[in-house]
Amino acid sequence: MDYSSRGYGRGFGRGCSRAEGPFQRKGVRMTLTRRVIIEALDRADGYLSAEELFLIVREEYPGIGVATIYRTLQLLEELALVQRVETGEGRARYAMSRDKDAGEAGVGNEVVLICDRCGKVIRQPKAAARCSELFDSLSRKAEENYRFHTERQVLQIHGLCAGCTGAPSEKSR
Ligand SMILES: [Zn+2]
Repeated sequence: MDYSSRGYGRGFGRGCSRAEGPFQRKGVRMTLTRRVIIEALDRADGYLSAEELFLIVREEYPGIGVATIYRTLQLLEELALVQRVETGEGRARYAMSRDKDAGEAGVGNEVVLICDRCGKVIRQPKAAARCSELFDSLSRKAEENYRFHTERQVLQIHGLCAGCTGAPSEKSR
């Protein structure tokens, strides 16, 4: 199959170049399937369920099975390339973790709002930046009190989104 006609011919982008280092360090091979999944997640720029990711990837890579999606997500999570959040009733959503090397404030840290009714996950990069002092002090305390080395921090705020409470959309505020 010719993937160059499917939008992958222009080479792989940011997501895959980020993945190269961790893959090499762990001796994991970068396969075409893994590349396609990483790029789809990176382009989505938000949290997707495994099923949503499967539907997106299948459009460009029809041979893929949903089990491959789950296996790859698990691998990417182990390599800290993917952040997984629970959205209630055992459901999960996945996104590329925030890039420690991109010079973003609050490096690698994430603040997300999770709707427990519909499973929507809203990323809050600005809140993550505002919380950087809190994140720093938490990781210092973890080191002092538990000899725990913090790699990244995710603050999950659970509740109901505007769509589920009938409140005006967050964009109008
Ligand atoms: Zn909702």
